[in-house]
Amino acid sequence: MGEQRILAEAARIRALGEAVNRPARDPVNQPHINDWVEAMGNTNPRYHRGEAPPSMTQAWTMYGLVAPRDPDDPLHAMMAVLTAEGYTGVLGTNCEQTYERYLRVGEQLRVTVRLGDVAGPKQTGMGEGWFVTSISTWYVEHEDGRSERVGEMLFRVLKFKPKQASGDPGEFVLYPTTNRDNEFFWAGTKSGELRIQKCGSCGALRHPPGPSCPRCHAFDRQYIVAAGTGTVFSYVVHRHPPIPGHALPIRLALVDLDEGVRMVATTDADIEIGDRVRVAFRRVDDKLTLPYWTSIGGGR
Ligand code: ZN
Repeated sequence: MGEQRILAEAARIRALGEAVNRPARDPVNQPHINDWVEAMGNTNPRYHRGEAPPSMTQAWTMYGLVAPRDPDDPLHAMMAVLTAEGYTGVLGTNCEQTYERYLRVGEQLRVTVRLGDVAGPKQTGMGEGWFVTSISTWYVEHEDGRSERVGEMLFRVLKFKPKQASGDPGEFVLYPTTNRDNEFFWAGTKSGELRIQKCGSCGALRHPPGPSCPRCHAFDRQYIVAAGTGTVFSYVVHRHPPIPGHALPIRLALVDLDEGVRMVATTDADIEIGDRVRVAFRRVDDKLTLPYWTSIGGGR
């Protein structure tokens, strides 16, 4: 019954076509480009000569913090249908952007959104769910009335029924993906060590682990064992939506380790920015031990 209704609603919403048609708040402009390239650390000089980074396309048509959301948005409409059917969890799964050309200062954009595939129900690691794809298309409006397609984005989310609605955190574990870049890290937590990846060529420390050194590009992966102490740089308290395997709320802290890298983990205490923390370890099972932060006092 639920499945029939979901498919019928998906067909109805898809038939609306490009239901959202929203102009950008501002034309493509240099001050906004300056902010973007600074934030991204992009030093390409072409972005100071009247062109905008293509990866910025979506930014021109964002709602902003206070603008009302578009009630006709087909993705939101489909989300509402699935939520009503009990698929309350949401997880972004993939996003593919296509750019036709560089945008230029002064151009006026608009974006349309239509619903793509709605596929399900499927059994996933998160629980039973539906994959929902929306397609955003960006156009430049020319003075002669012509609309030129300049970019497109496929955005896919998984709407799922969280495996355990009971709130018991013990039943389900979401294991991290391990590979040859990060297996040393998880081997470390198992043996009670917090390890930081180190470049074997230039000695630079880095986290999260990756294949190559961002400083000298060498592929020589080594590690050191951290002292396990650091200072809270920032934190969030996650209250909703539910996450399988965790009791809410979850406190997550981004910590500046004394060795100079930043690491994120949950914390067992109320913390504030600037608090000193020390790592501790929670053994989940034979396969997984998770690090978490425990407070060792306030102030820097
Ligand atoms: Zn290096």
